[in-house]
Amino acid sequence: MVVCLSNNYYVCTGCALLCDDIEVELEGSSLVKVHSACRKGVARMKGCETPLECAVNGKSTDTDTAIKEAARILSNAENPLIFGHGNSSSQAQRKAIAIARKTGAYLDDTSSFCQGPIIEAILQGKLRTCTLDEVKDRADVIVFWGADPSSSHPRHMSRYSYFPRGKERQRGWEEDRTAICIDVRKSDTAEICGNNGTYIIPPGEDAEFMDALVSGLSNKVPKTSFDFDKKRILELTNILKKAKFGVIFAGLGLVYSLKDLEPLFALMDKLNSVSSFHLIPMVGQYNMRGSNHNIFEETGYVNRVKFGTEVLHGPEYSVVEALKEKAVDAALIIGSDPLSSLPLSVARYLTEIPLITIDPCQTLTSSKSDVTIPCALAGVESGGTAIRMDGVEVEMKKIIETDRLSDEEILTRILEAL
Ligand code: SF4
Repeated sequence: MVVCLSNNYYVCTGCALLCDDIEVELEGSSLVKVHSACRKGVARMKGCETPLECAVNGKSTDTDTAIKEAARILSNAENPLIFGHGNSSSQAQRKAIAIARKTGAYLDDTSSFCQGPIIEAILQGKLRTCTLDEVKDRADVIVFWGADPSSSHPRHMSRYSYFPRGKERQRGWEEDRTAICIDVRKSDTAEICGNNGTYIIPPGEDAEFMDALVSGLSNKVPKTSFDFDKKRILELTNILKKAKFGVIFAGLGLVYSLKDLEPLFALMDKLNSVSSFHLIPMVGQYNMRGSNHNIFEETGYVNRVKFGTEVLHGPEYSVVEALKEKAVDAALIIGSDPLSSLPLSVARYLTEIPLITIDPCQTLTSSKSDVTIPCALAGVESGGTAIRMDGVEVEMKKIIETDRLSDEEILTRILEAL
């Protein structure tokens, strides 16, 4: 068998960094080697250990029959739920929105319990942001707040945020960049930032630490109810004040700690009155940000919507509340595994209603589904576009052929069958 190195660069869909410098080796029509990607990316691009089977009520069937059954379930439901989207192309997401509109469904995605509020604030112009390419070329002070890219986005620091030499940062991390880590534990990223650059704060105290930084930036004495060396807070505010191009990478640790975004808005306002700061959310799934952009474009909200004669929005339309209140009577799950990721007490209700899963791989949710429809693996077996964590659109190319339909094609056919 001839092994050939592709002449093209491809996009990895292992996380929302969407690395676009991936090379692959093909043996016939199989992908045998992936170059440049991290281990997480290689695992993703090599495909599922156990691909999903096309089935209705546990019996193998053909795609047409499964699509017809999925459409029947959604048509018969009064309040279906359509959930997932973070691992779907933007084209598929737009089809899912069209299905939700047609069926009067609850529509939500994983950002509902992670980065949604931050992305919404960025889209509404309430938080100043920038691109990863600008970070690479210009950023001199980089703050990882409640974020551990060394583990979650393994090539983040080497491609963009810390190690590379950029246009205005030719002397690299050794002299041109200062990396700060604010977290509740000494993460792998904290190890890179070193003891001087690491600020360990108690869990849940991020808002108070932000208030202390705002005080320091305002030349006041910073106060915290927890024991923290004021001198270190003042040292940090001095670094932040001197930033020519600063960026905060907001991780899940930060998002989960804040009750609302007011302390973050106050800190960003203060930072931008004394220096220049931007914020980028550390989005996990490869196109979760795309889902927020697409739903926002259609409805003015990034998630948690219910279609009907008008579009309703609010916490009561979130996947968690919809399942807790048993407000939905069927569910279509696309590229997500809520039975694994949501608390069992909430997710268990999914097993009591007609459940459809579209995914390349078998998951716990697919194992409990009435209808399972396998789709092509995005970025490998199908193309499309996705939105990177910094809001930049990236085009994904198909690498190998498959007889499985893309998620966009499956959703288009469900939409037509409704
Ligand atoms: S950092 Fe993310 S996008 Fe880049 S190769 Fe690793 S998993 Fe893929």
